[in-house]
Amino acid sequence: MCFRPAEVAMKKCPECGTPNKPIANECAKCGAPLENKKMDFDADQASLDAANTFAAPKAPGAPKPPVKPGAPKPPMA
Ligand SMILES: [Zn+2]
Repeated sequence: MCFRPAEVAMKKCPECGTPNKPIANECAKCGAPLENKKMDFDADQASLDAANTFAAPKAPGAPKPPVKPGAPKPPMA
């Protein structure tokens, strides 16, 4: 783990593309307002989706077709 997550979280200015601090409300270079996405909201949504995914298990696999009861396997001689 050598990469610094702080760099990943940098806000990119929509106007000039300058990376700004995540806490910045406006671009340090051009002063354009930066989107203040509520990370908490996204996280909540993500966890919600994850929770739903886990809470609602997929269909328990396609039910295997029942083995024909009246078709005994030929004896392997
Ligand atoms: Zn900018």
